Amino acid sequence: MSSWVNRVLVIGLGLIGGSLAKALRERSTSACIVGYDRDEKEMQTGLRLGVIDEMATGLAEEVSRADLIVLAVPVKATEAVLEQIKPHLTDGTILTDVGSTKGNVVEAAERVFGTVPNTFIPGHPIAGSEKSGVAAADSQLFNGYKVIITPLPDSDPDATAKVDQMWRYTGAEVLSMGVARHDEVLAATSHLPHMLAFSLVDTLAREEENLDIFRYAAGGFRDFTRIAGSDPTMWHDVCLANKEPLLRQLDRFTTGLARLRKAIEEGDGDMMLGTFTRAKAAREHFSRILSDTASSNNMNNENVIFRAQPGGSVAGTIRVPGDKSISHRSIMLGSLAEGITEVSGFLEGEDALATLQAFRDMGVVIEGPNQGKVRIHGVGLNGLQAPPGPIYVGNSGTTIRLLSGLLSAQQFDTELSGDESLAKRPMERVAKPLRLMGAEIETGEGGRPPLKIKGGQPLKAIHYDMPMASAQVKSCLMLAGLYADGTTSVTEPAPTRDHTERMLQGFGYEVDVDGSTVSVRNGGKLTATEIDVPADISSATFFLVAAAITPGSDLTLEHVGINPTRVGVINILKLMGADLELLNEREVGGEPVADIRIRYAQLKGIRVPEDQVPLAIDEFPALFIAAACAEGETVVTGAEELRVKESDRIQVMVDGLKALGADIEGTPDGAIIRGGELHGGEVFAHGDHRIAMSFTIAALRSSGEIKINDCANVATSFPTFIELAQEVGLNVIKGDS
Ligand code: NAP
Repeated sequence: MSSWVNRVLVIGLGLIGGSLAKALRERSTSACIVGYDRDEKEMQTGLRLGVIDEMATGLAEEVSRADLIVLAVPVKATEAVLEQIKPHLTDGTILTDVGSTKGNVVEAAERVFGTVPNTFIPGHPIAGSEKSGVAAADSQLFNGYKVIITPLPDSDPDATAKVDQMWRYTGAEVLSMGVARHDEVLAATSHLPHMLAFSLVDTLAREEENLDIFRYAAGGFRDFTRIAGSDPTMWHDVCLANKEPLLRQLDRFTTGLARLRKAIEEGDGDMMLGTFTRAKAAREHFSRILSDTASSNNMNNENVIFRAQPGGSVAGTIRVPGDKSISHRSIMLGSLAEGITEVSGFLEGEDALATLQAFRDMGVVIEGPNQGKVRIHGVGLNGLQAPPGPIYVGNSGTTIRLLSGLLSAQQFDTELSGDESLAKRPMERVAKPLRLMGAEIETGEGGRPPLKIKGGQPLKAIHYDMPMASAQVKSCLMLAGLYADGTTSVTEPAPTRDHTERMLQGFGYEVDVDGSTVSVRNGGKLTATEIDVPADISSATFFLVAAAITPGSDLTLEHVGINPTRVGVINILKLMGADLELLNEREVGGEPVADIRIRYAQLKGIRVPEDQVPLAIDEFPALFIAAACAEGETVVTGAEELRVKESDRIQVMVDGLKALGADIEGTPDGAIIRGGELHGGEVFAHGDHRIAMSFTIAALRSSGEIKINDCANVATSFPTFIELAQEVGLNVIKGDS
């Protein structure tokens, strides 16, 4: 784009025109900002308040001199103003407007010019206030807000770029969309809420005795009705200008309100709770999306550093956050059960929340989560309803793979999609066996998401020999098997996590486990239950190792899941000589749970049995620290998978431990670690949360401070890690670079 413009003429020096003029004067350019208003006093006020550089003396002359003209008059005056300026426009003068509706502005331009000039770029700032007139002009009005421009197919790119630049000078974010889309979106998000506010206040105000009500009105009423103070004339114009889209939105709202009215009349609690919980969740979701756009990039780029001081002790009783796999399945099975399932200790991480939202979208009433508590009003195996649109699962592989099995058996079509990183993950491993069962599934390019699943397909049971060990594939087929005619069985080549089979049994569904083969028959039902989600053993591991290596420690970790497919860390620590007891063993929703008490005992090096490696695969970064503090040599083999986790965990641990003076060698499938003294130093977690937490606990045995870089991801996987570490006696703080 060549340099911006020399002379801007703002016609209509009210709130919006004045604010734009003032922002352009203050924020940017050397362009001369000229104001025109039919009311001379407004122009004089504008000049006096520093809103404009110059007052237009005659409209005709100013129009012919301007490079860019902004119409900031009420929408219904647009046509008259265009007629007025048309004879004086010179070729190439850029025209734009700020009107709240766009279809009618474009029609007005067509009537005046025959065809809309290619230098007319309609626009609409999504910012404003209830005030009007130039005296209310505020140069910050658009800063940080959005402006929509609606260029037409023939619009001149240079003119579009200049209008775009104008708004960016004010600090606004500029979006571009079609005229019709703009009017539809605004009818829903702005015009409809204004109608509700006007109508509510008018309805209450009309009745004599109701006037009293306003006296008792609290914050909620004030918030909701604030926009009823907006300019009546402007809104009168908007309603006429955007009649059809607004009527469509009003009809949708009226239907929704009638549904709610009926629920209240009939005492239909599920319907009411469903509406309120969905609305609450959607509101929170929108707020997150809105705040994320501003802050998410910063989050990822930020180098969060942990500084762990040497020494400290480990004592007390703590509970670490809930297990993710079990949190997911609590929602899924609770939704398919009959009755109300009460969940506590639910992990409110993004992945499990995506599962929760998916079931809400399919009509399940889910209350919470509130401090880890969730109440699921199960709809039974055949009670799910078609979601209103595609189900978005964010970054959750568990959600998309498990749901694909369940949804293959429903009567309605669905589409499952996720974020950019999920869109790269392979889905054929579930789609293929599901097709063998009779499912109709289309995967995206290269067998990746999105998945399109056709409803109404009768499934038949199969036996499936999994080519690779995967708990997600096994779980997906078992969920489909709940609906498939006959007995569905899956054989796994190596043991994988068995949460689905255990929890199905916890919900009263019969599952047959015979060696490496699990089977389910269709025709049963799930019965609601209570689930206190076990604490995640992978999160507990950092504290287990912390206590194991620190003289004087005595720590109890409460309510930890000790599923046999996950307890490698307990077995390995015991083999190393840890003083570790399982107390109060019990079962929760089919899952074994215990409190774990661990006290210091000098660890000794071992050769880690390879059969324990898959049962402890996520726990090796912490186990490497344990080995570095043990007496003698520890040898890890058969753990090549560690090289393809969030980081190359073998290399990153070798580098970090060497930086602390440890005697360690990496091997292709593990490491050889000889225990000894650790000194302080600087290490890099490479964005891998488990590495960051492991080096934090190493400080308990180091002689100097350990500075750990790239720890931002700990906030997502284990947000309370630092607080819990401090609570048990570690001396660690978090800071930025
Ligand atoms: P405003 O404060 O009332 O300003 C409108 C100005 O235009 C007034 O000074 C008015 O003069 C003048 N005007 C009216 N007809 C004119 C004509 N034929 N020739 C020259 N000047 C004329 O209103 P506003 O809030 O700035 O709204 C202006 C535009 O912005 C509207 O199209 C509206 O849809 C849009 N908009 C408003 C908001 C908001 O929150 N207010 C937000 C986004 C977009 P008089 O006082 O003599 O009538």
